[in-house]
Amino acid sequence: MGNWERPDGHGIADLHMHSSLGDGMASIYQILEYVEHKTDLDVIAITDHDDIRGSYQARELAAKKNYRFEVVTGMEVTTLHGHLIAVFIEEPVAPLARLDTTVEAIHKQGGLCIVPHPMSWLMRSIGQTTLDRFSYRRDGIHLNGIELVNSNIAARISYEKSKRLNRKRYHLAETGASDAHFLVMIGSGYTVFPGKTAADLKQALIDRTTNAGSNGPVSLKKIGYGRVLKQLMFKGSPLIGIPKLLAKKFGRSKETSK
Ligand SMILES: [Zn+2]
Ligand SMILES: [Zn+2]
Repeated sequence: MGNWERPDGHGIADLHMHSSLGDGMASIYQILEYVEHKTDLDVIAITDHDDIRGSYQARELAAKKNYRFEVVTGMEVTTLHGHLIAVFIEEPVAPLARLDTTVEAIHKQGGLCIVPHPMSWLMRSIGQTTLDRFSYRRDGIHLNGIELVNSNIAARISYEKSKRLNRKRYHLAETGASDAHFLVMIGSGYTVFPGKTAADLKQALIDRTTNAGSNGPVSLKKIGYGRVLKQLMFKGSPLIGIPKLLAKKFGRSKETSK
């Protein structure tokens, strides 16, 4: 069990995690059962890469099982400028478009955009130049949130810089998320918001009244070295270049391991 801190009258959410439909290791059912019994989370989103199916399935299952938490739909969209978390969406968002085109498509359907693992050069991240450029736009195209806590080690490198720049320049809603690929990582990063429901969370993201929370890093030992190796070999690492390196070394590619 984690140590989820929040002031009275606040809820907590983890809006960035991956299922076995994508490069995560746990099924939708396993994820929801874990959230219900092992975390304090009030709201979650499954955000597989360029794939919304997991979040639909999670929403359906949650409705059937009557869990105590809420599920919102989402996906992690690969844009030409880096990854972007889209949440509160009903339709899938097309990958490999410009960031502003993607942001517009998400807002058009009532969704919100959060920049995951900002400025992390080890992951496909939206960089400082793009964030700067966006903050100067006056045409209404805007981002909603910035993920200041992401439990992957590659994202933690740029935490202080992102926080400083966001407070000085970007003024986006501050979020935390696990980016979990394993059950035990879920909730290791989280977003604190006034209220408790998914609707409260959405409003808080729009009003920029959220905060990023961290449950501390999850060690490889806790995840299990075997599981980490299995994920790297069969799903590919979220870190750029590593899947290719492994494919070369072990003669496997993402395609053949499906
Ligand atoms: Zn990502
Ligand atoms: Zn991710």
